[in-house]
Parts: sequence; structure tokens; C-alpha cells
Amino acid sequence: MTATQSEDLQQLIGRDGYLPRFESVEEERRHRKERLAAGFRLFGKFGFDEGVAGHITARDPERLDHFWVNPFGMNFRHIRVSDLVLVNRAGDVVEGSAGVNRAAFAIHSQIHEARPDAVAAAHAHSVHGKAWSTLGRLLDPLTQDACAFYQDHALFDDYTGVVLDLEEGKRIAHTLGDHKAVVLRNHGLLTVGHSVDEAVWWFVTMERSCQAQLLAEAAGTPVHIAPEMAELTARQVGSHVSGFVSFSPLYEMIVREQPDLLD
Ligand SMILES: [Zn+2]
Repeated sequence: MTATQSEDLQQLIGRDGYLPRFESVEEERRHRKERLAAGFRLFGKFGFDEGVAGHITARDPERLDHFWVNPFGMNFRHIRVSDLVLVNRAGDVVEGSAGVNRAAFAIHSQIHEARPDAVAAAHAHSVHGKAWSTLGRLLDPLTQDACAFYQDHALFDDYTGVVLDLEEGKRIAHTLGDHKAVVLRNHGLLTVGHSVDEAVWWFVTMERSCQAQLLAEAAGTPVHIAPEMAELTARQVGSHVSGFVSFSPLYEMIVREQPDLLD
């Protein structure tokens, strides 16, 4: 989505006016952590885990240069609110007893720093995202859902091993720019959002859009949605509010199915 389209939409809905309001920062923190734990359970349920790879982060609502993340080595399917750890801008765990994936810190710290609007960022080695990433291409507007990424994702056209240093994280953040997602070549997908809800939803639907394009291109020559229709659809399905709302049924499902995630 272009800056102008995004501005138009924000005028319509008010800047993030759809987000819940909180009485206290503690309440807001609790809410973010619940969404984050639910995001991990969904990633686990959808099979996005691959050993110790993958991380979703949520900026702390008070200490804005700190973020909440999964404890290193814990399966996504087991993560509860009380398992989440808080990391400061130096990479130290300041709440929680577990360690943190170094790659999670190297990438996410730089994204949160470069994008003050990004409350959350999500990355995992999901199968279709990583298969798509090997092609070194952006997604095409082949389906209504894929239009969420039309002119609103980037390609990090490089691969230099496991991302352990901050400079590499900075380069990824620079490539992401003001988009909602980036394809990391030979690696996988990364998405961001103004809410945890949004970042997780973009990841889920981007993974499926990669799957859809891989299937379509394996079967034949897919017809592209025309540029003006893709732009219109991007405004409809690709907005911050749309990402936030789309996560809601997934959240309701996973909390009903696995209520211990809230512990
Ligand atoms: Zn990774």
C-alpha cells in the first residue's frame, strides 16, 4: 500500500482508532502478551515451527525500546503468557529466566528501532514461505488475499548465513522500509504490524499466499489481477484495521481450544 492510500484510510478510521483502549499500561502489556502467546500457539498449530527457529516480538507499551519474545528452545505449542521474556535494547533478558535466540534479537531489535510504528514483528521458517523465498521474487497479485501485499512488501535479495549480527538486522530493516512484510531470500518471511494481531495475521496469510502462488504456477500460467483492481483490493484487505480484524477468529479459536496459553 502506498503512503497516500494509507493516509486516506487512516483519515477514515482515525489513526489506529480501532485498537482497544486501556486503563493502565499493565492492562495493555497483559493484552499484548496474551495476543503474543496466542500467536505462538497458532504458529505451532499451523506447523510454522522448525527446531529453535522463528520468533514473534511485541514492543513493551511502557519501555518502548524493550520487546517481549519467546524463550529460546521452547516449542511454540507450549508457550504461555508467563513464559514470555522481556529483552532490552542491549539484548539482555530483563524479565523471565530463559535465554533468547540471538537471531531473534539481531533482526527484531533493528526492525523495532527502524519502525517506531511497528508494535510487533513475526518471522518463522514456514515451508511455503521459505520455498517461495528461494525464487528471489515478490508475490504477484494472483488472489484477493495476496493483494494485501500488493506494493507493500519487499525482497531482501541476499543470504549471508544465520543472522547473528546487528548490521545484518539493520540491512533487513532498511529493505523492509515502510512495508508490512519482507521476503528474506533463501530463508523465509517476516511481517510487521501496528498490533500483534496484525503482524501474526500478515504472516499467516502471506504464508498461504506463497502456497497459492506456488500451486498455481506449478499447475499452469495464472492470470494476474489488473493493477488498478489490485490497488483497490489492497486498500480493502491490506489495511492495518483489516489485519487486526482478520486475526480475531484465530484468536478466539486458539483460546477456546488451548486456554492454558493465558496462564
Ligand atoms: Zn530465520
